Amino acid sequence: MTKVTLVTGDGIGPEIAEATRRCIDATGAGIEWEIAEAGVDVMEREGTPLPEKTLESIRTNGIALKAPITTPVGTGFRSINVHMRQEFGLYACLRPCKSYKGVRSRYSDIDLVVVRENTEDLYAGIEFEKGKAETLELIEWLNKHSKRPIRPNTGVSIKPISVEGTERIVKFAFEYARKMGRRKVTSVHKANIMKFSDGLWLEVSRDVAKRYPDIEFEDRIVDNMCMQLIQKPELYDVIVLPNLYGDILSDLCAGLVGGLGVAPGANIGENMAIFEATHGSAPKYAGQNKVNPTALILSGLLLLRHLGKMAEAEHLEKAVAAVIAEGKDVTYDMKPDRNDPTAVGTQEMADAIIRKIKAG
Ligand code: NAD
Repeated sequence: MTKVTLVTGDGIGPEIAEATRRCIDATGAGIEWEIAEAGVDVMEREGTPLPEKTLESIRTNGIALKAPITTPVGTGFRSINVHMRQEFGLYACLRPCKSYKGVRSRYSDIDLVVVRENTEDLYAGIEFEKGKAETLELIEWLNKHSKRPIRPNTGVSIKPISVEGTERIVKFAFEYARKMGRRKVTSVHKANIMKFSDGLWLEVSRDVAKRYPDIEFEDRIVDNMCMQLIQKPELYDVIVLPNLYGDILSDLCAGLVGGLGVAPGANIGENMAIFEATHGSAPKYAGQNKVNPTALILSGLLLLRHLGKMAEAEHLEKAVAAVIAEGKDVTYDMKPDRNDPTAVGTQEMADAIIRKIKAG
């Protein structure tokens, strides 16, 4: 048995976590689940939305499936999701975007993988507020050393991109491509404008690419990449990006395959991985057995692949694809009319997937 922490989350989290657990168990993957709580529901009891015993469970097992968690507003707690990524050094955000027949989308046959750097760039959280003494000091220093004056009334966000940070994420993209039998990696940047941050990213990307002669490499400027993804998505395969562009393009790619309901994800570090859907806790649907469990189930599929359980993963994917293609036992959001009375609930969609798994 492989021990995996199951963070049940809040809002719709517990329902989709249960649906996903049942589907994975039906594949016979031999997972022993260690249930752990996090989110606004445990805050009152534990005094924190992220109890130490939950962190400890993830730390010990090294792998978790995590349902969505609401970011508490006005409590002084920052995003639990960001906290977890930092705590465990989850530097890679993996977002496969694949078309499944039966999901409404303007595109078909999309099969892209977005690999986003998770720790650096403008999202590193190094910010200086307008008017603060340290900000004025920074501006004064910059005005002395740079030819382009900055107005005193300016807020500043810093964009660090390091050789080490770039090397490990680009290497991750190539290793993933090799492991999954994919043909090409595209590195995305704006090196023509930001020569010392994105320029470094591009230079390091090219260096790493030389170590993987079996996989094609190319680079694209981010604005051109957006247009290309809309016009010719079939030209791309694995796409590796710095944090900010990665955030934006992973949503763009999720849009190509039908949106949040079917967008799985993973945050991966050296010896640690947390698998989660792209969508949030949708609190207005909590406890109604109504929402679509697909994105978390597909995140579970990534977890199985990560554990090397390829046959079980394939079995699960085939079952999910078959249920979606039939379009009968699916949740309201997958029906052509969202008010379709034949839509089934979260657990009933999971039941249909389990029936397909059992039928082989
Ligand atoms: P959301 O993803 O929860 O909801 C956006 C829209 O998508 C809503 O209309 C919702 O009803 C719908 N939706 C989401 N998941 C669905 C599903 N499985 N099936 C059908 N419809 C679905 O985004 P939000 O409303 O901006 O965020 C709610 C909370 O979730 C916030 O506190 C946010 O911080 C948090 N959040 C958490 C995570 C995470 O845990 N990784 C990610 C994103 C947002």
